[in-house]
Amino acid sequence: MMATQYEGNKTFTIFEKEKEQPSKNEVRIKVAFVGVCGTDVHIYHGMMDKRVNIPVTIGHEMSGVIDAVGEGVSDFVIGDKVVVRPLDDRKVKPSDKGFNHICEELKFIGIDSPGAMQEYWNVPAFVLHKLNNDTDLKLAALIEPLSVATHDVRMSGLQAGETVVILGGGPIGLLIALVAKESGAQVIVSEINETRIAKAKELGLTTVNPMQVDVVAYVKEQTEGRLADVVFEVAGVQSALDVMTEVAGIRGRIVMVAIHGEKKPVDLFKFFWKELKLIGARVYEKEDYEKSIALINANKLPFEAMITDVQPLSNIQQVFENIDKNPDGMKVLMDCSL
Ligand SMILES: [Zn+2]
Repeated sequence: MMATQYEGNKTFTIFEKEKEQPSKNEVRIKVAFVGVCGTDVHIYHGMMDKRVNIPVTIGHEMSGVIDAVGEGVSDFVIGDKVVVRPLDDRKVKPSDKGFNHICEELKFIGIDSPGAMQEYWNVPAFVLHKLNNDTDLKLAALIEPLSVATHDVRMSGLQAGETVVILGGGPIGLLIALVAKESGAQVIVSEINETRIAKAKELGLTTVNPMQVDVVAYVKEQTEGRLADVVFEVAGVQSALDVMTEVAGIRGRIVMVAIHGEKKPVDLFKFFWKELKLIGARVYEKEDYEKSIALINANKLPFEAMITDVQPLSNIQQVFENIDKNPDGMKVLMDCSL
């Protein structure tokens, strides 16, 4: 079988190895497609060399078909189409209060342990979600990032008819926009990059460019002064932190999706004045995956347009180099059979 490894120093290698028999309570998946996540790009750039165990096979946004079943696995059979929810929460403790997805000793599969950028992948059965027989495996590779979006929207408590402002129109921002719109919200995406603005428009979304338009004034005008009921901060930059407290209306909820690696100034007075709420959201839970699987199976949203490139896994080095050259693309998938 073909496998790939990140070797450090912006380098992937491709090699042949023997398929491994699944251990007890494990399955072996023939990986169909694997998506490249922002986190994978961070790893490629060497930003996570202290965390990953180099050399390491990475990748966690995937779809595939069960190819072999280990002893003790009863819920899955060979031929089942599946996706992996890549959270290893086996070391959960009472102090995690049942929130296993963010437990203190959480291991992320594909970062802390081997991932999906290979032809066959052995995983414990408890991370699997079964798909329908007719689920499109290309679209199914979007289920992991889509579940970030369904989780974020669920955490926001979004109601139909509410106004949502999304700060940042990258892959996650646009998936949040699609999920929020599908929930019956009025959605406005704030983004500065023209390629991403064009993609958002192609997806049928309303956009505003803060370099050209005063976003707060624009949202005010669109809402008869009520401003946003929910703001998703997906940009991770100071200007978004400045706008989020301005563009949120009375009792507005702000969901922190972006990962801010350091402390940054936030206008806390606005939290007092407008009784705002700040909500943290990280990865996803089982029900978020179930919601995403239902959305992919229904296939009413323009998911196909989120996939901007499909390349053979054997081109992995080129794929990451191209993402550096063209960072405005949306989801790049790799076909793991090629
Ligand atoms: Zn991801």
